[in-house]
Order: sequence, then C-alpha cells, then structure tokens
Amino acid sequence: MKERTIQLANEAQTVALGNAIAKACHQGTIIHLYGDLGAGKTTFSRGFLQALGHQGHVKSPTYTLVEPYELADRQVFHFDLYRLADPEELEFMGIRDYFSGNSICLVEWPQQGKGFLPEADLELHLTYQGEGRQAHFVAFSANGESLLESLPLL
Ligand code: ADP
Ligand code: MG
Repeated sequence: MKERTIQLANEAQTVALGNAIAKACHQGTIIHLYGDLGAGKTTFSRGFLQALGHQGHVKSPTYTLVEPYELADRQVFHFDLYRLADPEELEFMGIRDYFSGNSICLVEWPQQGKGFLPEADLELHLTYQGEGRQAHFVAFSANGESLLESLPLL
C-alpha cells in the first residue's frame, strides 16, 4: 500500500493515529510530517512518543531543532525545522549521526531541510478539514508501505 487517507475528527484521533503508527514502527524509520501551523504534527508526535512509553509533555523543538527521547526499547529524535534558516546548518549539527539507523526520526517541516535530510520511509500530510483534520500518508520504502498496511482502520 503506497498511500492512505484517514479522517481525524478530533485531537484524540490524531493522538490515536500516532499511537498506532508507533506500535508498528521499526528502528531506523524516518517519518516526515507536513502541514501548516496547527495542523497536528506535534499532536501526532505526542501520540507516537506516548505509545512508546514517554510520559508528559511533547513540545515542538522549534528553537533547539531536535529533541531526543530515550524510551524503553526505542530511541526517537523529534525534529522541528521550522526555524532552520539554511538547510546547510543540518551539516553543522551532525545530522548524519541522528539518522544512523538505530533510531526513529520524526521530522516536522522537512521541506526546510531539503537536500540535507535523508529520504523518508513515510510522509504524513496533515490538512485542515472542517473542524477536524485529514491525514494523507505516502510511503517511499517497503518499510513505509508495511507500516501503512499494518495500520488498523481508524
Ligand atoms: P503543529 O505541530 O502541526 O503546528 P500542533 O499539534 O501543535 O500542530 O497543534 C494542533 C492543534 O490542533 C492542537 O490545538 C490540537 O488540539 C488540535 N488538533 C489536533 N488534531 C486535531 C483534529 N484531528 N481535529 C481538530 N483539532 C485537532
Ligand atoms: Mg509542531
């Protein structure tokens, strides 16, 4: 399955989607999160991190660019590249070490790092839809495709 679209009527459904993807997600997976401000990228990330055992807040790391999470049996890096002035800065922050294959990477505003970020296994495009949101997934690897296939109907 290369693409999948899911309607998210409220915040709880965005969190549930993050939970479901996290539970099926292997080490080394890269997920790019697209969507306007307030579309739900961080809400999805919170659901994702909480399903892997993170307790408490998840804030977009807007100023620090990346927030590491050491969870029970996963390492997750949550990026927010909104304020990245130049994609080349990613080189200076040692971007390759984060994408070593031993962690899961969630990247908000990946378009800001174009040319310097590795390809995603899966893209999530969140858009406003009435009072709710629409989630549109596109898979770019076998891993991304199997992630989509393993998603229960939400
Ligand atoms: P982003 O990281 O994309 O800028 P956030 O996740 O920080 O967005 O904020 C999303 C906002 O929209 C939050 O106020 C959240 O409660 C709300 N929200 C998330 N998912 C939904 C949804 N499916 N329907 C309606 N509101 C939602
Ligand atoms: Mg955010």
